[in-house]
Amino acid sequence: MDEAQFQKQRDVMVRSQIEARGIQDERVLAAMRTVPRHCFLPADLVEEAYEDHPLGIGCRQTISQPFMVALMTQLLELRPEDRVLEIGTGSGYQSAILSELVNEVITIERHAELALQAQQRLHDLGFLNVQVHVGDGTLGWEDAAPYDAIIVTAASPAIPKALKKQLGQQGRLICPTGDRKAQQLTRIIRCGNAFEQHQSINCVFVPLIGEEGW
Ligand code: SAH
Repeated sequence: MDEAQFQKQRDVMVRSQIEARGIQDERVLAAMRTVPRHCFLPADLVEEAYEDHPLGIGCRQTISQPFMVALMTQLLELRPEDRVLEIGTGSGYQSAILSELVNEVITIERHAELALQAQQRLHDLGFLNVQVHVGDGTLGWEDAAPYDAIIVTAASPAIPKALKKQLGQQGRLICPTGDRKAQQLTRIIRCGNAFEQHQSINCVFVPLIGEEGW
């Protein structure tokens, strides 16, 4: 398949999976149309890149369904000047989407192998405002805090305390919370030292493993 065919598949994906399910943020839709999702997958799954489900990326981890990426991104209400922290780099695809929308992305992955691969890939594709770190993301990344937005792309029993601490004023944080088998997307917004909380849709993510996860 050539690039024009992949572009066509991306346009169809955005129309039929993402706009059709109510995502309206034009900047998010544009990023989903631009980022070459097929470049973030193992060679044997490239043909499935634009299908409506998660896919394996090695180390028993997954790249989320395109709609889930779009929804979580929209819920972050990102502005071009924002600095964003992502927990769970995985393939680097969500990081690339964020990279299109904000000034600076810091992303943390506990599997060194995935982190290294994602870092190389993001660099080769020209997503140059993303910093990849290996570590336990449940502790956040103090050095660049506070963040305008934080996204956790693995499931946690509760929102890690360190992440709440590193969220700036009016900052938005999105995290799947629940038990190991099923979760709900939870969004909090910081107002002073209080947090407004909203629940979004049901979801299933791989577990967040760490000091403040499982
Ligand atoms: N955002 C990714 C999806 C990753 S799946 C993408 O677009 O491809 C979730 C990832 O979270 C996995 O790679 C897993 O290894 C990682 N993870 C789990 N617990 C973590 C932790 N405590 N710190 C950092 N990464 C973690």
